Amino acid sequence: MLVDDEEATGLAGRMGLGVPEFLERYTRQTSAGRSLTEKLTPHGNDCVFLDREKIPGKAVCGVYDLRPKQCRTWPFWKSLLVSRKRWELASRMCPGINRGPRFEPEEIAQRRDVIDI
Ligand code: SF4
Repeated sequence: MLVDDEEATGLAGRMGLGVPEFLERYTRQTSAGRSLTEKLTPHGNDCVFLDREKIPGKAVCGVYDLRPKQCRTWPFWKSLLVSRKRWELASRMCPGINRGPRFEPEEIAQRRDVIDI
C-alpha cells in the first residue's frame, strides 16, 4: 500500500524509529510511489503490518489507526469504481467486498476522492 510522508512519519513514530530508518525497513519504491513492503507467509505476500497471530484465525492490521489512506479508502478507489467489471474482479480477490455496510453514493465519492488510485 502506498504511504505518503505524513503517514510514514506517523508510522515511524509508532515503531519508535526515525523516518529514514522506517522508510528503509518498511517501505520500497514502486512505479506508483513509495509502498509498504510485504512479507512472504504461508498465505502469500502479506503487508508487513498484517498481523495473523494476535487473534487466532483472523488477519488484522497491526497499525489500524495509522493505516495509510489507500487502506482507509479500500475498496472505493477510482480504479475499481471505473466499471462494474473492475469491481467484480476485485471482489473475487477480496471476500469483504459486497459484504460490508451499505454506503451512500456521497460517502463513496468522498472516499474515492481521498487518493488518486
Ligand atoms: S490495512 Fe494495515 S495490514 Fe492492511 S495493507 Fe493497510 S497497513 Fe497493511
